[in-house]
Amino acid sequence: MDARLESIKDTVLAWNPGEAEFHQAVVEVFESLGPVHDRHPEFLEAAILGRLCEPERQIIFRVPWTDDSGRVQINRGFRVEFNSALGPYKGGLRFHPSVYLGIVKFLGFEQIFKNALTGMPIGGGKGGSDFDPRGRSDAEVMRFCQSFMTELYRHIGEYTDVPAGDIGVGGREIGYLFGQYKRITNRYESGVLTGKGISWGGSLVRPEATGFGTVIFTQEMLKTRGTSFDGQRVVVSGSGNVAVNAIAKAQALGATVVACSDSSGYVVDEAGIDVELLRTVKEVERGRLEEYAERRAGVSYVDGGSVWDVDATVALPCATQNELDGGAAARLVRSGLLAVGEGANMPSTRDAVAVFQEAGVLFGPGKAANAGGVATSALEMQQNASRDSWSFEHTEERLTEIMVGIHDRCAATADEYGEPGNYVLGANIGGFVKVADAMLTQGLI
Ligand code: NDP
Repeated sequence: MDARLESIKDTVLAWNPGEAEFHQAVVEVFESLGPVHDRHPEFLEAAILGRLCEPERQIIFRVPWTDDSGRVQINRGFRVEFNSALGPYKGGLRFHPSVYLGIVKFLGFEQIFKNALTGMPIGGGKGGSDFDPRGRSDAEVMRFCQSFMTELYRHIGEYTDVPAGDIGVGGREIGYLFGQYKRITNRYESGVLTGKGISWGGSLVRPEATGFGTVIFTQEMLKTRGTSFDGQRVVVSGSGNVAVNAIAKAQALGATVVACSDSSGYVVDEAGIDVELLRTVKEVERGRLEEYAERRAGVSYVDGGSVWDVDATVALPCATQNELDGGAAARLVRSGLLAVGEGANMPSTRDAVAVFQEAGVLFGPGKAANAGGVATSALEMQQNASRDSWSFEHTEERLTEIMVGIHDRCAATADEYGEPGNYVLGANIGGFVKVADAMLTQGLI
């Protein structure tokens, strides 16, 4: 790492003790930014990096609710409003037992660069709770969401902060959250949340956007080597929103997705994942992946283990952070891996990224490859602001343009800084310069 940035990094890490995921995200970005500071010493003088690493506002709150047996439960809620240089804070809410401040800050920090790369007018933020919706009834999820919004509503707004979904927060949760916001404020403020239902202000393609966008970005990377998804053997981790839609898009482009996973195990389906059956099991019935294997001939289910033990030419990690380590990366490289497109946020450890880059594997980092979700959220905000709704075809066309644009910007930035094909560097520098310029112009705030 550049010596000038090393001491800033040390200060940031010491100031945020015990937040391992946030540290990891900060170090990865800092490692790319030395050359930018050679060209822009004014960023150092204005302490842009130090300011960028300190959220503009961090909100932590109590979320009390009653379960179906009448017992009081208490969870912790978070919203980190990280950076508003380019627009209102924008980023999802995650409901998962692993959520704590360090996870929310890593996600919010990544979101700043991702949102800048989309070219849309959105700042970076993230939130969530350690609440676990799995195994909870709809009524319990509703009571939790209502309690969560009863505090959150005072901090958000169409021009202030616009949350959306993430792990554990899908259409059901956004519906309950929006209903409570409307009830408390007596405002039908469509632009306050994205990921809404299609009949009440949502956008077509938003549910598909992150998975589709990841595949579009990866397709653009493959094109630089004269190839495409057609005929590739693909392994996807996860079986949630991002994973299912990545599987659907990859197969529509001619690939065979032979495996996917959940937090209990993985399935191997050499004929190619049956997307309709997967959607029924996971989205309609809210079941486990094991049930997919029970209902389809020729599919094996592996309890526990790692989906990265399955050979692939393209890997799409779409589950969670740090799910693919250096050992798994080396194994995938030995099996003939060509490309990795990160649908999840920071799913590859720093060791894994090093293995991929060393081996010349095309590597699309999450902050670029999975930006299609937030970009389509921004398209949802546009439709809400103009009281309009666009067709599926038009919206998908916009998503495709945006993803191709992000790919090309990352590639051009990597070329400009003398590291062709380094999408990590391209994404970090491309996102950073845009935010840094805006911060500089807006003065010391
Ligand atoms: P979902 O909740 O819909 O699905 C998450 C999937 O990942 C599930 O299959 C889940 O398995 C699995 N998973 C979650 N945590 C773990 C864990 N600790 N270990 C193993 N598997 C796990 O979430 P999304 O699909 O929305 O999000 C997936 C990733 O994509 C996240 O990193 C998220 O931040 C990122 N992302 C999402 C966007 C969106 O629009 N939704 C936008 C950009 C990025 P199980 O069911 O067993 O828990």
